[in-house]
Amino acid sequence: MTYPAGQPLKILSDLNVQDVIVIGAGVIGISAALALQADGRKVTVLDRQDSSPRASDMNAGGFAFADIMPLAAPGIMRKAPKWLLDPLGPLAVPPAYAFKILPWLVRFWRASLPDRHQKSLAAQADMMKLSHGALERLISDTSADELIRRDGQLQLYEGEREYQASLPGWELRRKHGVNFKLLKSPYEIADIQPGIDRRFSFAGFTPDWINTCDPAVWLSHLTAAFRTRGGNVIEANATQLRSTGDGVEIHAANGIHRASHVIVAAGAWSHHLANTLGDTIPLETERGYNTTLPATDFDLKTHLTFPGHGFVVTRINDGIRVGGAVELGGLKLPATYKRA
Ligand SMILES: Cc1cc2nc3c(=O)[nH]c(=O)nc-3n(C[C@H](O)[C@H](O)[C@H](O)COP(=O)(O)OP(=O)(O)OC[C@H]3O[C@@H](n4cnc5c(N)ncnc54)[C@H](O)[C@@H]3O)c2cc1C
Repeated sequence: MTYPAGQPLKILSDLNVQDVIVIGAGVIGISAALALQADGRKVTVLDRQDSSPRASDMNAGGFAFADIMPLAAPGIMRKAPKWLLDPLGPLAVPPAYAFKILPWLVRFWRASLPDRHQKSLAAQADMMKLSHGALERLISDTSADELIRRDGQLQLYEGEREYQASLPGWELRRKHGVNFKLLKSPYEIADIQPGIDRRFSFAGFTPDWINTCDPAVWLSHLTAAFRTRGGNVIEANATQLRSTGDGVEIHAANGIHRASHVIVAAGAWSHHLANTLGDTIPLETERGYNTTLPATDFDLKTHLTFPGHGFVVTRINDGIRVGGAVELGGLKLPATYKRA
């Protein structure tokens, strides 16, 4: 808590006034705020608004509804030693963080056991259906068609072995109603995306995959819609949550906000805030790196995913963003730009 000693706490917003406070003005917080607003709630969003770019502004812009497979899948932990040993591999855990992350990795491993994996797969597939419907409503409700690209996604496999290993996943997608086509030659691939190296000789195409033209523009658009409908976004760095019985107090550096409900949508920092209410959430930080190249002669027709190399290639406005290089290194790890 950061109040000057002996000074009365300033009440900045009050329970009777604010129905719901959302902490975090990223895409999750603003989307939640819009949905609550549509439900007739009075909503205020708090954000610390520091200068560092948010994940919501800089991601690869894919609404990955075809990705129904949880990352914690059977056999994933066999790859763990490689994560530790290759600092520039598709997924890295810096050795200094390996001990700290161990309890989370144990949970992750337990979630990858076959019976748990089946349950989380069913849950993720249902969530994807729900969120796909919600996104379409949001696009139509906020007149956002021009911010959306419907060019599908091509998952590229480097040779038959990688392709064969992907087939059980495609079978699961089929079971859960995901629309796709499997491509078994560079010629079929070139019909969708010319210019791909021939060693990527197999692919799966999901035509219903959706992208935003620019995640930062998408977020500004949603924030503007929230404000136009009477929502407030206030600068405040939430430091502590306290239950008051009939609501919640959100303590910030300059005083207290009160509300009947709070939504914690503070991205990778959410578990620290939830912890102040006594909730222990097993959340880890997944950082990724993007490089956005200027428009070139390469005519990118669709969102490309290279699962064996752990990166995607996608159009952002007129540029091409190459992103991935996932790193599990906590919130304080300095950026490793070699990964970008
Ligand atoms: C390289 C990369 C590529 C990605 N590509 C995709 C993709 O193609 N598709 C996809 O679906 N996802 C993608 N993701 C993931 C996606 O970007 C995130 O899951 C998503 O943006 C998280 O949104 P958020 O609102 O939860 O968090 P954030 O965008 O991190 O926003 C959290 C907000 O909370 C605020 N905040 C934090 N703590 C406090 C506090 N104490 N008080 C007040 N405010 C606080 C922050 O200031 C911030 O504004 C990608 C991620 C990366 C890194």
